[in-house]
Amino acid sequence: MKKKKVLETMENTHTYVPSRFNALSHTDDGGLVLFNSFNGAIVHFSEKEKQEVLTALKRVGIKDLQHDLHRDLYDNGFLVSDRVDEKRRAQFLHQSLHRTDMMHLVLLPTEACNFCCTYCYETFPRGKMDPKTIYALKALVQEKSTNLSDLHISWFGGEPLLALDVMEDLSHSFLASTKENGVQYSCDLVTNGYFLTKEVFEKLLTWEIRQFMITIDGVGEIHDRRRHLAGGGQTFNKIIENLMSIKEISGEFDITIRMNFDESNLQETSKLIEFLKEHFSHDKRFGVLFRPVGRWGGENNDNLPVCSRVIANKKIWEFTDKAITEDLEMSSMVAGSLLPSASVCYAAKPHSLVVGSNGQLYKCTVSFDEEMNKVGSIHEDGSLELDYDKIAHWVTSGEETDSVCQSCFYRPACQGNHCPYYRIQTGERPCPYEKRSIKKVLNLIWKSSLQS
Ligand code: SF4
Ligand code: SF4
Repeated sequence: MKKKKVLETMENTHTYVPSRFNALSHTDDGGLVLFNSFNGAIVHFSEKEKQEVLTALKRVGIKDLQHDLHRDLYDNGFLVSDRVDEKRRAQFLHQSLHRTDMMHLVLLPTEACNFCCTYCYETFPRGKMDPKTIYALKALVQEKSTNLSDLHISWFGGEPLLALDVMEDLSHSFLASTKENGVQYSCDLVTNGYFLTKEVFEKLLTWEIRQFMITIDGVGEIHDRRRHLAGGGQTFNKIIENLMSIKEISGEFDITIRMNFDESNLQETSKLIEFLKEHFSHDKRFGVLFRPVGRWGGENNDNLPVCSRVIANKKIWEFTDKAITEDLEMSSMVAGSLLPSASVCYAAKPHSLVVGSNGQLYKCTVSFDEEMNKVGSIHEDGSLELDYDKIAHWVTSGEETDSVCQSCFYRPACQGNHCPYYRIQTGERPCPYEKRSIKKVLNLIWKSSLQS
């Protein structure tokens, strides 16, 4: 009995204080949205609850959790015991990236492309994946599957659909290996959309490719001027025709329609939103994403009319807001990026590798020509030859050494590693767009949730 008394006294000495990983935004209905980056919780509180929430989240904290609202705040991680070392928890979360039962491969079934976009940074030195690399990848996945719980493939390029036969060959093998060993298998695809006919799309679904990103930079001629065929020629109508026929399919998938903007198509966004509204509003499988063109390399690099950082940050959310107002879905990538570790680039993840069409291994899908990015190769038997010094450069340059990142409210989502290449190049922190405008983003997530 005595023992119990002592325990009770200890429990009662708790103070519950706001988590250091909270962010808050006021909503137009007089309420507020709370977000916690350690567990990804996003909760709306009504105008009636608001004052009570704000009082409970004062730095001095509260003494007990008798009140239902306080219990809710605690259960969602917005309040934590003052005995919790949250920085240490974040450090622990970071270490979970080292799990060896997960693997992410970014594959380039071809490094060639049928488009020649004005702002492209790739040089297309090689074509289709060679038979040796295909064989090696099958062997790697077959061997690793016995110890994996999760395998994710990102199909990238060049234009991956130019090598549909390679994708088919690899997919069949990966599906068999993962099924045999009970491994969770999932894929995404970045494509320009030109070859994404309904028939092709249906095939991709059978290969467990369910997340797609397709870029449209404006309506008709505006898009065609920026994203034309390699030999010249329009692409807009064909992409839209493909998307319209895909819309008729009843399956589950998630398509992000991305618009890359700079000073030369900034004014055309409204027209694109109107156009997309007409065809894709009220279909939750199609979401929109706006991103500024950057100087990522390539022959036009110095001449690109990129927006200033201030304009870019503002316009991303202004366009998203307009799209939501027009009943379009915001890309699932926005809310998805707020989840724990979800803003960490694959280049910074130890279990992630990019495989070129000749078996060259990389970490980053932008800086293909940089020596630092050539981190090894895959042998025909599926074994990997890795340069761990180079890999360490990509995976240890974030929050481990940056004290500002260690204290950042967004740390669990980003871990200082949203773009290790940016940090290596500029020495600056690669804070994601979502973090820089977190209040606006939370507001948009709330606004978007009202549509359903
Ligand atoms: S390191 Fe940066 S540039 Fe490279 S893939 Fe990641 S986000 Fe892109
Ligand atoms: S890079 Fe920026 S957002 Fe990411 S942890 Fe560091 S300070 Fe926070």
